[in-house]
Amino acid sequence: MKDEQISMALTDNSEASTLQKTGIILFASGILSAIIALAGAGNAQPVLFFWLAFGLSTAGGLLYAYTYFKNPSGIQNNGIFKNGVNNSGVIAWLTGLVFTGFYIILYWFPQYLEGLIRATDTFSVLLRNRPADQWFLYGTIYTLAVLVMGIRFIGKYRHSRYQVIRTLSVMFFQTGFAFLLPAVLLRLNQPEFYFSYFWPLKYSYLFPNDVNYFLNSGAVGYFMVFWGAVMTFIATPLLTYNYGKRWYCSFVCGCGGLAETVGDPFRQNSDKSLLSWKIERYSVHSVLVLVSLATILLWINSYTNGTVLGNFSGSFAKSYGFFIGSIFSGVVGTGFYPIFGSRVWCRFGCPMAAILGIFQRFKSKFRITTNGGQCISCGNCSTYCEMGIDVRAYAQKGENIIRASCVGCGICSAVCPRGVLKLENLDEKGRFEGYTKPEIN
Ligand code: SF4
Ligand code: SF4
Repeated sequence: MKDEQISMALTDNSEASTLQKTGIILFASGILSAIIALAGAGNAQPVLFFWLAFGLSTAGGLLYAYTYFKNPSGIQNNGIFKNGVNNSGVIAWLTGLVFTGFYIILYWFPQYLEGLIRATDTFSVLLRNRPADQWFLYGTIYTLAVLVMGIRFIGKYRHSRYQVIRTLSVMFFQTGFAFLLPAVLLRLNQPEFYFSYFWPLKYSYLFPNDVNYFLNSGAVGYFMVFWGAVMTFIATPLLTYNYGKRWYCSFVCGCGGLAETVGDPFRQNSDKSLLSWKIERYSVHSVLVLVSLATILLWINSYTNGTVLGNFSGSFAKSYGFFIGSIFSGVVGTGFYPIFGSRVWCRFGCPMAAILGIFQRFKSKFRITTNGGQCISCGNCSTYCEMGIDVRAYAQKGENIIRASCVGCGICSAVCPRGVLKLENLDEKGRFEGYTKPEIN
């Protein structure tokens, strides 16, 4: 490198680090304002604390994200496992505890969030024509987090068109379909509906209570039931056959969107051991069985007017909602990002991922092809696979990667220095060529 280029790079780096520090200070001020709002100031001065809490933290986050555009694109391995945030160290555990604590309060003790909920009232009235509740607060934080961290992600992986497009896609679906559209529906006095979530992930959409409620809500409600059924039973198999599960997990889903953006700093923490692969398969398919059972039991109960099952089906569905819908998907699935990696829920719990995975494994055009001769066994691909797949093991043998859990995020390919890995939708025939069934005990 010439002297001039070295000095430019150094200037860029020091500018980036100053911006980064300013961003962190602004973000911390936003969090401090949120804590003051929670202590009661949000009730007294809602608008002021809305701007202080959300405005400052968003501005800080954006400034921090912007610095990624100033640094070289691509993964930076430097010290990744020496940094307490990234290596499941003490700071990661503390961060995990804060995340988990927030979810516990959100689900079961929302009264402690009152100050911050009131701070979002004006925004809620503007969007939905009604005061905020804890879920509106959560939706606002969730969407802002996906947007800010999405911009950071785009800066980091801007060399890869695939990464830029799919990140813009999850940002769009989260903002438009999971935040704004349900709010507009409420404003129009229509049922709140999330067009980007389907059964079995949004399990209640095929439960008799929800179906009856939508059917009694007029033409829009009919369309919602129709949309849910078409997406679950027709679009899901067709799209997964053609593109693999990535069409949903890496382009549409809000849980996947959060994992890819907010969870990106933790993706390397996913466990790559055979034991966790085994646990993953038992766990994710058990959840699918449970949600299917809950749905079938509720419909039997509905047709027999409760004469056969009594309260059993209702209690069963409630337990599913509590243990899987709230504790597993909400508290553990997101709260444990810093410890177990970014896709804890998608990998071990999501019943939608289980269905998509079954199609992907047995009936799909999708695969990751490997040009084994080029592999230098650096291990970047395995390290950064958020689903805990030992990608290198396949690359070394030059085998196609056909795994039910692969969400098609493409990060393995983006971080490979030798261009070994390619995500492809090819003719279904020949998919298993050169493929040896992995030995799993
Ligand atoms: S194998 Fe590659 S594309 Fe699949 S989940 Fe892992 S990193 Fe993403
Ligand atoms: S496939 Fe690429 S990233 Fe993975 S070990 Fe080989 S050279 Fe490294």
